[in-house]
Amino acid sequence: MQTVTIVGAGLAGCEAAWQLARRGVAVQLFEMKPHRFSPAHTSENLAELVCSNSLRASRVDSAVGLLKEEMRRLGSLFMAAADATAVPAGAALAVDRKRFSAYMTEKIATHPCIRLVREECTSLASADPAHPLILAAGPLATDELTSALARLSGTEHLAFYDAIAPIVSAASLDMELLYRKSRWDDTGPGDYLNSPMNREQYESFLAALLSADRVAARPFEEARYFEGCLPLEVMAERGPDTLRFGPLKPVGLAHPVTGERFYAVAQLRAENARASAYNLVGFQTRLTYPEQQRVFRLLPGLERAEFQRLGSIHRNTFLCAPAVLGKDLALKAAPGVLVAGQLAGVEGYVESAACGLLAGVFAAQKVRGLPYSPPPAATAHAALLRHLTESDPRQFQPTNIIFALFPELETEGKRKPAKKERAALRAGAALAALDTWQEKLTAAS
Ligand code: FAD
Repeated sequence: MQTVTIVGAGLAGCEAAWQLARRGVAVQLFEMKPHRFSPAHTSENLAELVCSNSLRASRVDSAVGLLKEEMRRLGSLFMAAADATAVPAGAALAVDRKRFSAYMTEKIATHPCIRLVREECTSLASADPAHPLILAAGPLATDELTSALARLSGTEHLAFYDAIAPIVSAASLDMELLYRKSRWDDTGPGDYLNSPMNREQYESFLAALLSADRVAARPFEEARYFEGCLPLEVMAERGPDTLRFGPLKPVGLAHPVTGERFYAVAQLRAENARASAYNLVGFQTRLTYPEQQRVFRLLPGLERAEFQRLGSIHRNTFLCAPAVLGKDLALKAAPGVLVAGQLAGVEGYVESAACGLLAGVFAAQKVRGLPYSPPPAATAHAALLRHLTESDPRQFQPTNIIFALFPELETEGKRKPAKKERAALRAGAALAALDTWQEKLTAAS
């Protein structure tokens, strides 16, 4: 019988193991706990939720709710555990973390196709696609293992910090106050939206930024920031003009119509090809979520900004997936090694488990000699996979699942549906497509 080796029995590793085992593929699952713990893990159990107990929104017309529903339909162990250990949390799905991990551990440890090996791995032996290895050692993978990965992927494609800037929806921006222009480029409409500030506006923004509440860093995340991804508020502490020489630099951004020059300018870059969402350039931050919304809405044109993602910075080892991973999540340089979870460049508990699910499905296809069958384009799983494998490698950052990653919605007639209606249409289309894929996978196995 063919065996797939998995390194790391966290959220992605356990889900990958489960997907393989339920298809009758033998799995050897390595987990270093309890011999060694990462700085964030404390329990001997598998699939530990290291921080919050929330798996975010439940509604299928939210992107993460849809991803969870797709996982349920694909027989996910992560979702079975979550549903079995849910605690009251209003419109969100939250779990009892201890019971959740205990449930996952019991199911994995007792499955006849899974051999759980409590050992640390220091190398990545498999390079043979017929005997795949799934690397799912998480954002705090051990140094030895990370070095082995760097040898395969190239150090330049491995990041150790994650600096995420907020994303806002285009529809929520005030286009009367923003103007379009790329720096120093007067030839066309320009790729960036610009939020211009006079001195008074800049100074009140700065004061609000400096006095806003921040998320405390954990010891292993402490202020060893790269100069290239300093939090906005840390830059601001260096002096009143530091931001005007950094992300809020106004030079080359005079208004293209009036020629007016500004004291400071914040730039927004389109997050997707259809420009339905914008990234606040250089706004990586450790402000708390409510404070980010309060302070960044002080920027002209963002007064009613709707945040699709908020900023953050933490220790996070991840690959520049679009540069090094194929569409089956295997390293281009070593097709026998698939990468899953946060290490592959997704962000969040649910996304890590969903990525593990995909890796399990793809690894099963490989060992059984079946053709590669990816999830249909309309699904949340495909949106995650596209982000990993089709993004611009120069700007790649991990992300949660958001509707901005989905393809344009095809609607009949000219009327653009309202936001809620769009979300419901997307969910319907995704789940219908998923069911067809699911039937195809079942027929093949
Ligand atoms: P993990 O769940 O971390 O699993 C990796 C497993 O591999 C671990 O069990 C580890 O012990 C094992 N391992 C590592 N190296 C080796 C080795 N060499 N040999 C054998 N085993 C090894 N996301 C959220 O949605 N909400 C949050 O609140 C949240 N908080 C986070 C807090 C911190 C401090 C961090 C670092 C991340 C957080 N995340 C959060 C992001 C992410 O969702 C989690 O890290 C998630 O657990 C990632 O899943 P994973 O399967 O990729 O890795």
